[in-house]
Amino acid sequence: MQIGFLKDNESRVSLTPSTLSKYKKLGYKVYLEKNAGTLAGYPDENYDCSKFLKNDLIEKSDVIVCVECSTIGDLKKLDNKIVISNFSSLTNNKKKEKSKSILFDLSKIPRTTIAQSMDILSSMSGLSGYKSIIKAAELLPKMFPMMITAAGSIKPVKVVVLGAGVAGLQAIATAKRLGALVEASDPREAAKEEVLSLGAKFIEVEGAVEDKDAGGYAVKQTKEYLYKQKEEVSKRLKEADVVVTTAQVVGSKSPVLISKSVVDEMKPGSVIIDIASSTGGNCELTKDNKIVVHKGVNIVGNSYLASELAHDASNLFSNNVFNFISHIIKDGKLIGDEDDILKNCKI
Ligand code: NAD
Repeated sequence: MQIGFLKDNESRVSLTPSTLSKYKKLGYKVYLEKNAGTLAGYPDENYDCSKFLKNDLIEKSDVIVCVECSTIGDLKKLDNKIVISNFSSLTNNKKKEKSKSILFDLSKIPRTTIAQSMDILSSMSGLSGYKSIIKAAELLPKMFPMMITAAGSIKPVKVVVLGAGVAGLQAIATAKRLGALVEASDPREAAKEEVLSLGAKFIEVEGAVEDKDAGGYAVKQTKEYLYKQKEEVSKRLKEADVVVTTAQVVGSKSPVLISKSVVDEMKPGSVIIDIASSTGGNCELTKDNKIVVHKGVNIVGNSYLASELAHDASNLFSNNVFNFISHIIKDGKLIGDEDDILKNCKI
C-alpha cells in the first residue's frame, strides 16, 4: 500500500521524518509532496522518501493524507482513494460534496482509551491552549508575574479561562507558570478538580447539566445556568487582564458567555483570546480569524493557534495519523466496518 502526504495550505504537515521511519518499518511505500514540511521546519532533505508534485503524488498513492481537508480542493480528483484528514469544516458545512473516495475524518476519533493516541483534537487543543497565553502576553501591555523593585511594585495579571477542557487546562498551566492569578469556569464537575490541581480558582456556579453518556464532553446548559454563569463570570471579567475562552458543545454553536455590555466594562488594554471562534465564538464581539479592538479591549478570534506551533503540532499530528493508519489498515486492507474507531470516522 502506498501512502501520499500532501502539502497543506498552512504550515503544518501530516508526515514528519520520524513517523516516516515507522511507516517504512511496517512496509509501506511513502511519498511526500515537494516542500510539504518546509514551513514546519522539516525540509525535504530530512525525508528519506520520494517527493512529487501534487498530481503525480495523488496518482501514485492509494491513501492520501493531509492536515485539513481545505487543502484537498476538488474531492472528485481523489476518486477511489482512501483520504484521511480533519474534515470538520466540510462535515459542519451543510453543502456536502459527493465523493467516490473513502473519507476518514480524524476529528471524529472517539474519546476512548484505545483511540487516545489517534486523537488530533486533543493534541491540537493542548498546543492552542499554550499559545493562547503566549499570544495574550504579547498583546498585553503588562508583564504576567508580580515584581517588587526599587522603582515600585508590579501586580501579577489576572487571567480568566472559560472552558477548562484540554485547551483551557493548558492555558491555565501556562498562565500559572508565568505567574498570573487564574480563575476558571466549566460546567463539568471533573473540570473543577483539574482546575484546582493546577493552582487556579474554580468559579462556582450551581445547576450545571451533565450527561455520563456524552463521552466526556459537556452538554448544552439551561438558560438559568448560563444566566448565573454570566453573572459570576462578568464580575471577574471587569478585573481581568486576560480572558481565554474555549467553551464548546459538540454539535451546537459555541455558547456566548461574554456579551458586548461586559466587554464595555473591561479594562482598556485587556485581551480576550477566543479559541472557540470557528464555531461562533464565546464572545459576542468575536470575529473568526480577526482581531477586533473594542474600547481598547483586544478580542482575538483564533481557533487555529496550533498552526502557529507548526513543528510540534506536525509531530503530534503525524503520530496521531500513524496510529490511526496502523489501526485501520491490516495486511494492506481496511479492517471491517464493525470497528468502533473506523465506523466513527468514516464519512
Ligand atoms: P471541547 O473542546 O468540546 O470543549 C472545551 C471545554 O468547554 C470543555 O471543558 C467543556 O466542558 C467546556 N464548556 C462547554 N460549555 C461551557 C460553558 N457554558 N461554560 C464554560 N465551559 C464550557 O472539549 P475538550 O477540551 O476537547 O474535552 C473535554 C474533556 O473530554 C476533557 O477535559 C477530557 O476530560 C475529555 N477527553 C477525553 C479523551 C479520551 O478519553 N480519549 C480525549 C480528549 C478529551
